[in-house]
Amino acid sequence: MSKVKNLTSKTKCSQCGAFEVVPIRRTEFYKGVLIENIPATRCYNCGEELYDLETVQLMEQVAAAPQKYAQMVEMPVARVA
Ligand SMILES: [Zn+2]
Repeated sequence: MSKVKNLTSKTKCSQCGAFEVVPIRRTEFYKGVLIENIPATRCYNCGEELYDLETVQLMEQVAAAPQKYAQMVEMPVARVA
């Protein structure tokens, strides 16, 4: 789980201050819902992956009402040991 930060600047890492921050898309299992294509930023210097506050709020919305936002997909799930 990535840390959540409200970034004031999207081009500078709030952890290490490097400017090697790039937008990425992540898939996260969030509060029981698999959310794909989440916009995030990743710092190449320290490896921090951050969501902005709006994104987190959107993920909260999805997790609160998955029947509204999510498709129910049946898939084989195996558990070993
Ligand atoms: Zn960094």
